[in-house]
Amino acid sequence: MKTFKSGFVVLVGKTNVGKSTLMNTILGEKVSIVTPKPQTTRNRIMGILTDQSSQIVFVDTPGFHRAAKKELNLYMIRTARAARDDADIVTIMVEAGDRLDDVDMEVLRGLKNVKTPVILLINKVDRAKKETILPLIESIEMMHNFEEIIPVSALTGDGIEIYLDAVQRLLSEGPPFFPEDALTDQSEKFITAEIIREKVFRLTRKEIPYAVAVAIDRFQEDAQKGLLLVDAVIFVERESQKGIVIGKGGSVVKEIGTQARMDLEAFFNIKVYVELRVKVLKDWAKRSEMLKRLGYQ
Ligand code: GDP
Ligand code: MG
Repeated sequence: MKTFKSGFVVLVGKTNVGKSTLMNTILGEKVSIVTPKPQTTRNRIMGILTDQSSQIVFVDTPGFHRAAKKELNLYMIRTARAARDDADIVTIMVEAGDRLDDVDMEVLRGLKNVKTPVILLINKVDRAKKETILPLIESIEMMHNFEEIIPVSALTGDGIEIYLDAVQRLLSEGPPFFPEDALTDQSEKFITAEIIREKVFRLTRKEIPYAVAVAIDRFQEDAQKGLLLVDAVIFVERESQKGIVIGKGGSVVKEIGTQARMDLEAFFNIKVYVELRVKVLKDWAKRSEMLKRLGYQ
């Protein structure tokens, strides 16, 4: 009998490099939230890929950006530690282009004492100038003893098979951690809230800062009718933000609901009804009770 392999793969890289997209492409579902706005993956989300011979648990980490210097350092320390302690394989992602920026360099420096095998992915090759890829590989190659350096497109799936083969090869023998059909360790309610939050970000663009949270008041499956009923509250911090989220004659919140419903139906494979309300809750981000209710630790 063939031995079963399993392990944790942590995804590391600056915000917007494409970590969540990679996870979604690999798992073929909207497990992790992808948005053009930075810093939207607040919690760690695991995605689980199980086949006949292996179980790979991908851990998507929250991104960080240049401005948050202190946070960045903390993040690096945490990530490096998590990489050593929890992960069996580290995947670092950078973007194809002429050169690495400061944040990439910071990420790579964080690898200094990491003994865990590291795979480097050069993402977004679909939109890069081909002649920049080789020089970029050459400049990164000497920064760490990478197991593999693989140019990929998380969006189109280019190179992803090569990446998965590399992961499989590096995994050690071990039992599955999760049931065979598990896709993510996050609760369905949490994923639902994240999908709605993503739509708020997408449809309000830069007008709404990060002070948006979504609480699920009702998550009720009617198995007989094949229906899922979702009632959710979108919390904002100010009246003016409430106006933006609702939109003229309710047009924006309606669109948020429609787009969320389509994603939820694709994810749960069931008909979904979404009811949304928008509420102002001053300083919710500072209130720990509230944070708990919203699912943030
Ligand atoms: P994360 O912050 O690292 O999780 O990045 P996301 O996965 O949220 O992606 C940020 C943005 O980059 C989104 O608009 C993605 O559609 C886009 N993106 C991710 N991967 C690729 C890729 O391979 N090619 C292109 N062209 N865009 C990508
Ligand atoms: Mg992300």
